[in-house]
Amino acid sequence: MKNYKSDFPILQRKINGKPIVYLDSAAMSQKPRQVIDAVMHVYKHVNANVGRGIYTISEEATGLFEKSREKIARFINAKFPSEIIFTHNTTHAINVVAYGLSQTLKKSDAILISEMEHHSNTVVWQRVAKEKGVRLLFLRIDDQGVLTNEVVDENNKTIYKHFKEIPNLKIVSLAHVSNVLGTINPIEKIIKALRAQSSEVSIVIDGAQSVPHMLTDVQKLDCDFLAFSGYKMLGPTGAGVLYGKKNLLEKLEPFVVGSHMISSVTKKGAIWTDVPGKFEAGTAAVEGVIGLGAAVDYINAIGMENIREYERQLVAYALPRITKIAGVKVYGPRDPDLHGGVISFNIQGVHSHDVAQILNEDNICIRSGHHCAMPLHLRLEAEASARASFYIYNDESDVDKLIEGIKKVKKIFKIFL
Ligand code: PMP
Repeated sequence: MKNYKSDFPILQRKINGKPIVYLDSAAMSQKPRQVIDAVMHVYKHVNANVGRGIYTISEEATGLFEKSREKIARFINAKFPSEIIFTHNTTHAINVVAYGLSQTLKKSDAILISEMEHHSNTVVWQRVAKEKGVRLLFLRIDDQGVLTNEVVDENNKTIYKHFKEIPNLKIVSLAHVSNVLGTINPIEKIIKALRAQSSEVSIVIDGAQSVPHMLTDVQKLDCDFLAFSGYKMLGPTGAGVLYGKKNLLEKLEPFVVGSHMISSVTKKGAIWTDVPGKFEAGTAAVEGVIGLGAAVDYINAIGMENIREYERQLVAYALPRITKIAGVKVYGPRDPDLHGGVISFNIQGVHSHDVAQILNEDNICIRSGHHCAMPLHLRLEAEASARASFYIYNDESDVDKLIEGIKKVKKIFKIFL
């Protein structure tokens, strides 16, 4: 792959004379000039609210906004652009789905998530389970951080040997790629098994860490809903996406109600407009959505398959080198084929905050903490972890600097293993 660093103005920045080694794309991707230009274009030339004005700049803004919807629909192979709902982010998207689906739940029903979920895909369902009095169950992970078929309850007690045994399973919500372990879950296979078992189950995929990094085809996956965030895929903050099958979205009650999403209102009540408008209450992140369209153009020019293969190679380079450092524990699968561009680790006897702080002395940006996955860290018996994550602008030299940084931490903490 070409070196894309030069397209990213922030990566030209030096702090104390040293370049930035950016290894936190799982939390926030950097933005190429093309996306920054698209956002600037909005503010300089077409800044107006969308879907409302009948004057030229509002119509132009609306045109660009809707073009983004079409681009994103094509990008994930949705059947219709109206299956793309603009949200603020993944969390918002999952809340929209959870609220809508929760309206039909009955006491004997069950919801299934997994032990590796982000809080966005955990807490939301915990609330639904509590409010509706339904069971929340978890797919267990093995010691490599790979999903098993075993189902546990909130006390880690095994309830079923296989998820197919769960009676009245109504909702399954799983991450495609873990933001901590990097595990790529066999979502397509799981969905096939679930469909064979029941026609009643709604399947939600948290695509926050997959859509930016690998080809996503919602028709092939056959998921009902897919949530992701634009800012993790080179787009601006403020614009996320909820994909939903059209017939399901039409039946779903909106989570947020108010402006933009009505067809008529009287003192007696309101009638919602059609999808996608029904789910897009309030003024959207106009520049965020248009910028996300530019990000999709940029990604398409590289090709999703090339991005995945590039990151796979980077992980194949990094994983054995980090794993072999004495005193370093790496979480997640060892096989790069099962591994997205996220590597989490701990250095024995050193808190991950100290690791991140020492790396920052050389402008190496990694994340430390629980990465919004506290139940997973409990499962891993780790209070926190350090996490390096890659994107198209990273290369082997960034991995080398990370490894040097880890060795420096060991030296400072006098870990001579
Ligand atoms: N799910 C996963 C797997 C994530 O990695 C993240 C972001 N770290 C989220 C959900 C939440 O995304 P957002 O903050 O954009 O709502």
